[in-house]
Amino acid sequence: MMNKSCLFCKIVEGTVPSDKVYETKEVFAFRDIHPKAPVHILIVPKIHLTSLAEIHEKNVTILNPLFLAAVHLAKENGILDRGFRTVFNCNPEGGQMVYHLHLHLLGGRPLGGAMGA
Ligand code: AMP
Ligand code: ZN
Repeated sequence: MMNKSCLFCKIVEGTVPSDKVYETKEVFAFRDIHPKAPVHILIVPKIHLTSLAEIHEKNVTILNPLFLAAVHLAKENGILDRGFRTVFNCNPEGGQMVYHLHLHLLGGRPLGGAMGA
């Protein structure tokens, strides 16, 4: 479940501090330490999965609460109607740096046409 060497597991546990914005039984959300937009929140499952590449038929439901949290947080941060972007970076060429599955929620400025976070 937990991975002792994983930064985001430590953030979920509280042994590494974070700017927490939301928590449920299943997910934990905190502000990105290097925000790329006025709103830049990371939403992670409490269970350790390395990336989207580990998703399969039996565990795909773990994604539902991440998207529910994204909509909740978009509303709470006033960007639901203005617009926002959700991004999973996966593996090296997808630009993934931290290997604990996380959904980026970005908004608060025009994000342009680029797909990158
Ligand atoms: P990714 O490239 O998709 O793996 O994104 C990892 C994100 O985690 C980057 O946007 C980093 O700025 C962010 N990050 C790294 N360390 C921390 C931390 N301790 N607290 C909050 N965000 C972090
Ligand atoms: Zn982890």
